Amino acid sequence: MVRALRDMREEVVRCNKCGFCQEVCPTYKATGEEFSVARGRNRLIRLSLEGTFDLTRSPEINHHIYSCLLCGACVNACPSSVLTDTLVKAARAEITRAKGQPFPLRLALRGVLADQRRLSLGAKALRFYQRSGARWLARQIGFLKLLGALGKAEGLLPDVPAYTLRQRLPQLLKPPARPRHTVAYFIGCVINNFFPAIGEATLRVLQHNGCEVVVPPTGCCGIPHEAYGDTETLLRLARQNLEVFRRYQVEAILTDCASCAHGLQNYAELLGEDPHYGPLAREMAAKVRDALAYLTEIGIRKEMGSLDITVTYHDPCHAIRGLKIKQQPREILRSIPGVRFVEMNEADWCCGGAGSYNVTHYDLSRRILERKMNNFRSTGAQYLATACPACLLQLAHGLRVQGLPGKAVHVIQLLDQAYQKA
Ligand code: SF4
Ligand code: SF4
Repeated sequence: MVRALRDMREEVVRCNKCGFCQEVCPTYKATGEEFSVARGRNRLIRLSLEGTFDLTRSPEINHHIYSCLLCGACVNACPSSVLTDTLVKAARAEITRAKGQPFPLRLALRGVLADQRRLSLGAKALRFYQRSGARWLARQIGFLKLLGALGKAEGLLPDVPAYTLRQRLPQLLKPPARPRHTVAYFIGCVINNFFPAIGEATLRVLQHNGCEVVVPPTGCCGIPHEAYGDTETLLRLARQNLEVFRRYQVEAILTDCASCAHGLQNYAELLGEDPHYGPLAREMAAKVRDALAYLTEIGIRKEMGSLDITVTYHDPCHAIRGLKIKQQPREILRSIPGVRFVEMNEADWCCGGAGSYNVTHYDLSRRILERKMNNFRSTGAQYLATACPACLLQLAHGLRVQGLPGKAVHVIQLLDQAYQKA
């Protein structure tokens, strides 16, 4: 069930203003502003519920609601376990219901992200922009500066590949001779269009470990729509994906994107009371796993070549706090011969990517990212591994703009490389 903000008064009044959230909140640490921490955001929400002001008509207050990363660090640190991230999401949904969304955001969420075909066409257009000389020209004549935040965020884009992961599936799906498991692989939007090489590595690794993999024709998981309060599209996508998955009899539903896994698991909460979709959503939630966690559950094959590299790991917020995955990626990295694993200080501190936060709040996101880059630099590692493609975009950007020699990778890519060297 999607909880309306007006029904969450009991949640927000549990905030006792102790301030324990200050130490863990990335936006507070970057700005020092009281309304950029859970306590301040909860106060704004509480005052609006008490009628002191109308949340939907106060742009300066909306700013503090939208500058939250939804990283969940405050929820873990809070002695009263106040669900600040849930309250912020409910506040955004309330604002969206009352005011709608700005046209560019509506276009991105409903017109592009909710439609895989248009999303892939958009990615192709970006590839043309990057390779035709238009990007070079736009940078030379300073056109990007005219685009404001969007222009700054342009540097986040990786080189868009010539193909999507879906286009490569016929060559990639090779069932093992004697499969031990039957699993479905959920292709996330970022993996499909920007990082198909990660998806290819995931499929190779799963099949190498005895999994017969099916890839259903699913759409976006809806996480971006939830983050921006577009509940209507989120529910539509959730129902569509559940209808697709009901046709597949599999042991597990796997993704290599921590945010997608978290989003799919959340369908049970969203649609739990729906007589038709509730049972489907609960069945699905029980099967959804992060691919790395699943591989440690079934036990990975140990025959690998040596990589001889130093690696550290960044915990995506949706993995560490959403899915409670901490040890599994580290276990996999440590199991690769020649990998020297070093723990990074504040490995679970948000990188500032937070889906598209790095586009909508580029400057603040960069300040948050700098802290991550400083911590990475201190490790002396060559590789910065993670388990979420959105974090990967942000981390790779951080390495580029700071001129650091490291490389950002998905853990599954290193495992795949080790298998290929065996
Ligand atoms: S830690 Fe929890 S109770 Fe304390 S101020 Fe922050 S949100 Fe409120
Ligand atoms: S979810 Fe993250 S950014 Fe938002 S208030 Fe909590 S700690 Fe701060």
